[in-house]
Amino acid sequence: MSENKPKALVIDNLHVDFAVQGGRVHAVRGVSLEVNRGETLAIVGESGCGKSVTMMSVMGLTPSPPGRVISGSAKLNGQELLGLKTPQLNRIRGADIGMIFQDPMSALNPTMKVGEQIAETLMIHKAMGHREALQRAVALLDRTKIPEAAKRAQQYPFEFSGGMLQRAMIAMSLACNPSVLIADEPTTALDVTIQNQVLELMREIQRDEGMAIVLITHDLGVVARMAEQIAVMYAGQIVESGSVDDIFYRSAHPYTQGLKQAMPSLTMHAEDRLEAIAGSPPDLFSPPVGCGYCSRCPYAMNVCESMPPPVVDVAQDGSHNSRCWLQHPQSTRIIDDLYIPSVNREDAPC
Ligand code: SF4
Repeated sequence: MSENKPKALVIDNLHVDFAVQGGRVHAVRGVSLEVNRGETLAIVGESGCGKSVTMMSVMGLTPSPPGRVISGSAKLNGQELLGLKTPQLNRIRGADIGMIFQDPMSALNPTMKVGEQIAETLMIHKAMGHREALQRAVALLDRTKIPEAAKRAQQYPFEFSGGMLQRAMIAMSLACNPSVLIADEPTTALDVTIQNQVLELMREIQRDEGMAIVLITHDLGVVARMAEQIAVMYAGQIVESGSVDDIFYRSAHPYTQGLKQAMPSLTMHAEDRLEAIAGSPPDLFSPPVGCGYCSRCPYAMNVCESMPPPVVDVAQDGSHNSRCWLQHPQSTRIIDDLYIPSVNREDAPC
């Protein structure tokens, strides 16, 4: 991650629990990450790994109860978000931090014209008058390449196609020039052509506005195209983080390897099968003492079961980390297909 760009969002050691019948689900377990202005951080992992809960908690959108931020910090441009009261959060949400959801139909009000919904955001956060806000809403729809923007602004969400709805959602989230845009599976419901157009649009607006994007997805193809940095999440923790090249070409964690093997590639033949990761994630009612990936990991060692793996710097400069005993300096395991830095392997505990 480039050091000279200002940090837009910094999350430090975030823990989030959900109180449910029979106990507490430890959904987010010590997540730390940061994203700079003008850059995209992708958070990837299987469904239920905690990636959406992490960002929803930062925005104060996790329903409480049952959800509760137990500890940690989340700073937006230096301002602490956790612990803010709802009115304070409302001033920040939509203004300094925007969000695009997977299903825009559920995020937009079906009884309100699209232009009016965007204008409402501007009237609340920018104190614009109705006429000015509506003009700006049309300009925003035009900016997101919705044809006949003025006419479309007068239509209801059900009159929009899926791709256009997602563009309208982008227009609304960008209305107040947020410094951070959180995009939660923004293209999952779209066909490939529209997906490409929406991703290109997000990139273009990011280049122009310099905002940071946090992209939540399970689609590594989208990640390769959009992100500079990647955080791989598993069982409520970040298990590996680094640049796109680190994760795609020098991945160190067995779970990241498993994700990549489950991804189709251009060199595959029709008869080739994708390698699914066998097993299922651990029960987060009572997370395992050791590594959460232990029961599924082909390289598991005795120490993995009994002690939580440390976060190890894979690169010398700290830009690439892996939460795995394999990268521990005293690990004795040498595995050809995993990237393990050259380290002192004497007196190994593993
Ligand atoms: Fe596998 Fe052990 Fe690394 Fe966990 S710590 S991913 S079980 S090798």
